[in-house]
Amino acid sequence: MTQDWGKRTKLVHHGARRSQYGEVAEAIYLTQGFVYPDAEAAEARFLQAGADEFIYARYGNPTVAVFEERVAALEGTEDAFATASGMAAVSGTLMAMLRAGDHVVSSRALFGSCLYILEEVLTRYGVEVTFVDGTDLDQWQAALRPDTRAVFLETVSNPTLEVIDLQAVAALAHAVGAQVVVDNVFATPVFSRAVELGADVIIYSATKHIDGQGRALGGIICGTRAFIRKTVEPYMKHTGGALSPFNAWVMLNGLTTIDLRVRAQAASAQAIAEALEGDGRLARVLYPGLPAHPQHSVAKAQMSGFGTVLALDVAGGKEAAFRMLNALQIAVISNNLGDARTIVTHPATTTHQRLPEDQKAALGITPGLIRLSVGLEDTADLIADLKCGLGMI
Ligand SMILES: *Cc1c(COP(=O)(O)O)cnc(C)c1O
Repeated sequence: MTQDWGKRTKLVHHGARRSQYGEVAEAIYLTQGFVYPDAEAAEARFLQAGADEFIYARYGNPTVAVFEERVAALEGTEDAFATASGMAAVSGTLMAMLRAGDHVVSSRALFGSCLYILEEVLTRYGVEVTFVDGTDLDQWQAALRPDTRAVFLETVSNPTLEVIDLQAVAALAHAVGAQVVVDNVFATPVFSRAVELGADVIIYSATKHIDGQGRALGGIICGTRAFIRKTVEPYMKHTGGALSPFNAWVMLNGLTTIDLRVRAQAASAQAIAEALEGDGRLARVLYPGLPAHPQHSVAKAQMSGFGTVLALDVAGGKEAAFRMLNALQIAVISNNLGDARTIVTHPATTTHQRLPEDQKAALGITPGLIRLSVGLEDTADLIADLKCGLGMI
């Protein structure tokens, strides 16, 4: 029945399990394990756990299972596996599916920790990784080989908001038999059309828009039932990156409002981008929703909204960017995104500090770049705050 429901109905109700008490809010099964009625039942469950049977919270838990089922229903995948953080999801997916001798093609514009997994960790175990400019289809085509097992990309890159043509990359990857793994944080589960565009595995840091209120870490891997249960689950359950039941409950509460929050935040981001575009104190205003964005048409075709994050490149460089950040009264200086609070980040000195200067330059992470994650405050107040900050540079 529930497959006929719209997204917002699923976000509130899908997969709900009620105990004998009939609680309204999802129960938090804050338990490490489960008692078996008898020794035979324990033996049977270890041999093959039933659909709603649990063994140990590292393997699965009823509160976590509701979260997994709800996100899978939202994303349109057969199944999902929840993890302790977004990075546990990224590293778990790649470590579970790859082995020594495999080849991976990845876009270069990645979140710092994703880059670390691909550049430092996988290569240590004999996986070969080729990096490409994700917006250049010729580079993907040239890098793909018959032994390419997977491609990895952020559909919208952090922090410069490049949009990769997922449908085109997926067609090229599938032609050589490679799986398409996407980190879809910036697209958000609300605007994602990743499954219909050809993604095989879709990963979210739930820390971002799913929680949306800056409270807890979490992650989720969405894919086919065979991939999630035969490839991901054995790796995750033995390596320990399990999501805590309490954090799963926090995330479930985040899901009930994510659609409203993300749409409101994206509308505000669009208005802010339009209000600041053309300001002489900014060298660039990067937002996929602006017609001037280099991949605006790709963004429009592959997402049902343009996201909640924009980037501003302050013409005066680092000093001017810092003066602006320090002058803001509403936006807070931090490094989360997707939060109800507007957050500003200076990537060159924080999230991407460790990158060598030439790599920063190649990725467009200039000294003046500010990442702006738009929250739920009044749009007019945010625009006034940003303009006031710009006045201080
Ligand atoms: C934050 C983020 C991650 C990592 O998520 P955590 O929950 O912090 O581990 C991965 N990818 C992208 C694009 C992110 O923004």
